Amino acid sequence: TLPASVFRLVVEQSALAISITDSKANILYANSAFQRVTGYAPEELIGCNESILSYQMTPKSVYETLWTQISHQQPWNGILVNRHKAGHCYLADLTITPIMDNEGCTVYYLGMHRDVTEMH
Ligand code: FAD
Repeated sequence: TLPASVFRLVVEQSALAISITDSKANILYANSAFQRVTGYAPEELIGCNESILSYQMTPKSVYETLWTQISHQQPWNGILVNRHKAGHCYLADLTITPIMDNEGCTVYYLGMHRDVTEMH
């Protein structure tokens, strides 16, 4: 099996923007692609809610479906209208995966997204 340090390298260098949050979507970790895609340095984001990325254009029903699904420990995939730090919007193709502890409680969420603006 691979040493644990390999998993960190993989996440840090992934081309997808990766973030890890607590169970309320407060950001605990963001990789360097997350900085490239969102414009925010990881230290600016730690402790902020992922809603900092909302352009406030995504219908509320999308967020409700997202939360219903992930709170039932199901992954969710969809497209959100996000706001880059510079102010412009971009389309984020996002997958959220609930991460469970050994007791089956959701302790983290893994978010992985990329900018798909040019594909739409
Ligand atoms: P909110 O106050 O979050 O409410 C919107 C609706 O979501 C509510 O009516 C409620 O039904 C539901 N809801 C919110 N929080 C909870 C909760 N803790 N439990 C159950 N239901 C809840 N949003 C983006 O816009 N862009 C992103 O890139 C993005 N990435 C995310 C990545 C991860 C890993 C996670 C977990 C969430 C992400 N979100 C993202 C969702 C984000 O946390 C917000 O819910 C969303 O941005 C809406 O924010 P709001 O303040 O407008 O509304």
